[in-house]
Amino acid sequence: MTTSSPTLDVTLDTTECCASGMCASIAPTAFAIDTAGYAVVLPTATDTDLETLCRAARNCPTLCISIARDGDEIDLLA
Ligand code: SF4
Repeated sequence: MTTSSPTLDVTLDTTECCASGMCASIAPTAFAIDTAGYAVVLPTATDTDLETLCRAARNCPTLCISIARDGDEIDLLA
């Protein structure tokens, strides 16, 4: 699942999501929780500020969220 804008891509590996809900809690304009408890990327994800997106991704317990800017994946652990 990927949502794109000219500069940002937010990708979530749904096979790795453990349904913690952390991403939606930190960045509710970027992520939502489906009826089964797993995260989905919202169409408004790329309107979310990059700092908030990165904070959500870093706090994901399985690190299954990736963020790229202009095609380059951001190193969330740097
Ligand atoms: S923080 Fe990660 S594991 Fe938790 S719901 Fe979001 S994508 Fe899934």
